[in-house]
Amino acid sequence: MTQVDTLLTNALVLTMDENFNQFQPGAVAVKEESIVAVGNEDEIKSEYSAQEMIDCNGKTLMPGLINAHTHVPMTLLRGLADDLRLDVWLMGYMMPVEREFVSPEFVRLGTLLACAEQIRSGVTTFNDMYYFEEDVAKAAADAGMRAVWQTVMKFAAPDAASYEDSLQMARKFIERWKDHPLIVPAIAPHAPYTCTAEILRATADLAKEFDVPLHTHLAETAFEVENMRSEHGIPVIPYVKKQGLFEAKVIAAHCVHIDTGEIRTLMHARAGVSHNPSSNLKLASGFAPVMKMLETGLNVGIGTDGPASNNDLDMFEEVRLAAFVAKAVTNDPTSLPAPWALLMATRLGAQALHIGHLTGSLEAGKRADLILVDVSAVHNSPSFKRAPDNAYAQIVYAGKSTDVSDVMVNGKWLMRDHQLLTLNEAELLAEAAVIARKIDTFLIEREQSVLSKLIALGGSLEQESFEVQVKVKIEDPDTIVRALKRPEIDVVRKRHYREHDAYFFFDEASQGRLRYREDDFMDDVKGVVTNVRARLTLIGQKREGKFEDQVLLSRSRYIAPASQSLRFYREYFKPKSEIAIEKDRQRWLILYKETEFFVNLDQVKQPELGYYLEIKTRTWSRRDAERKAQLASELLSVLGAAGGEKVTEDYIDLVHTDAERRAPRVSEL
Ligand SMILES: [Zn+2]
Repeated sequence: MTQVDTLLTNALVLTMDENFNQFQPGAVAVKEESIVAVGNEDEIKSEYSAQEMIDCNGKTLMPGLINAHTHVPMTLLRGLADDLRLDVWLMGYMMPVEREFVSPEFVRLGTLLACAEQIRSGVTTFNDMYYFEEDVAKAAADAGMRAVWQTVMKFAAPDAASYEDSLQMARKFIERWKDHPLIVPAIAPHAPYTCTAEILRATADLAKEFDVPLHTHLAETAFEVENMRSEHGIPVIPYVKKQGLFEAKVIAAHCVHIDTGEIRTLMHARAGVSHNPSSNLKLASGFAPVMKMLETGLNVGIGTDGPASNNDLDMFEEVRLAAFVAKAVTNDPTSLPAPWALLMATRLGAQALHIGHLTGSLEAGKRADLILVDVSAVHNSPSFKRAPDNAYAQIVYAGKSTDVSDVMVNGKWLMRDHQLLTLNEAELLAEAAVIARKIDTFLIEREQSVLSKLIALGGSLEQESFEVQVKVKIEDPDTIVRALKRPEIDVVRKRHYREHDAYFFFDEASQGRLRYREDDFMDDVKGVVTNVRARLTLIGQKREGKFEDQVLLSRSRYIAPASQSLRFYREYFKPKSEIAIEKDRQRWLILYKETEFFVNLDQVKQPELGYYLEIKTRTWSRRDAERKAQLASELLSVLGAAGGEKVTEDYIDLVHTDAERRAPRVSEL
């Protein structure tokens, strides 16, 4: 008799090996961290004896589930912001909150909570991507789970000032954890749209140097692919291939919007894919071509994605959804049958993570990562034995994560009879509640003002102090153009653009109004748009004062480059109403009496308001403003427009006062 540590008997053993072998009654022998033998109970019992003999009472004994893509510390952000589009959710909520709260303590707590949840639902291995990988890897190892863990690389992250810092940290992280029994270090360039080509190349080089996996998000949304096509002329997969990414052992999350050629590229690169049905459904990202990927021979695992976009880490739900979605999308109920769905969550998942030699199936020589599932509950009874597939269907279509009673990872019990052995759930939940209250307070404060919401988006925000402005309605623009050639006016430069403005109005006028402006720079010779620039301006409500001849001194304004779409800002700021203005603007920068002025000759086209002349300049003090107001008034005469009807409002005010007749409201939100 060979002595082992643990002998599990009287089980329905689903090995998930190459031949889908099942044993009933079956047994598994475990010694130290590994599986020594799997087979019929009689045979195993006749060969092995153990100190720990476990009668599984007919439960299903199977490999632990592999969560192929997640961001577990985000358990602490679960339910924070939902029913939003990906960009608004990510840039508007997740990233601002992460910038404020994410710390080593935060990720440690979030990770431990996630480990508790995952152990309870039968997950033994997860593939993660987040910040402060050192603390997170430690937390996962303390909880006793197997994890592929990596540092995130992107433009700027909460844990690194620059990408060079991140790269250096990643190198150290990999060196430190490379031989750990549970943690597989890796590197994670977040996504092609958040990384430069340089970062992608550098991470691939590092992954190759240490022979560790490289984890990234690829082709998650149609928007991402469109952008990639318009910027680089190729879709996402060929683009990252060009950056050398596939020279590394890639784990690609999502791959929703890829074609047959791209699937072949992934196949040739031996890349693993994580299919994340909940996340794709919840964020309406689309349907990954899972059947095509599997038929091509790709290793496709299943992932929950982060708990802020799912919102749980329940792999039972995920496997079931994967099967259902595949059937619905192909209009074929035979698509992704139960054994294959479960295979994706076990052996294929491990192979997708490039750790198939370690885990994913119950086979002698692999690590003892296994779970016991009670299939006798009322929601899962009775059981049929007619065909081997009955056992898989029972797990996939009717099993619940709460049916998992026991979990072993690397030969060590993490849960026995529903009791967690490595984690104190009550303590973790209490700590999480404290953090949730803090985040609530932060967001409640932020949501109170448009300015603080603008600040929360990050990026550069510039404050403009005062603006001197005079505006006159004119009949004949040519007289102004001619007058600009007078000797006392020195033209520094001239530009021509079309301006598309969208003004957001809010419930309280004191919030000011937010303008999204797109400038299309026109080449007058060629008659084409040469450049497009978008900016956001938060314009306060109150004017500071009026000088003689209706010259205005306007209040301070905040200006930021608009890096997101108009639709993004609309969904993020949720204005009460919105008005669009379109105009053709000729703008001269001139010197008059050694003072710089902008002279704008506007034709307001939408709504049709006609021609206006605007003279503007900036200033930093009130005294200077008074001097410039005087000069602006003089300049108005020099340009022959002093007699025109003066307007003290912005165009939007002209529209706003008579909205019905002059401008359609784009939306009443
Ligand atoms: Zn993700």
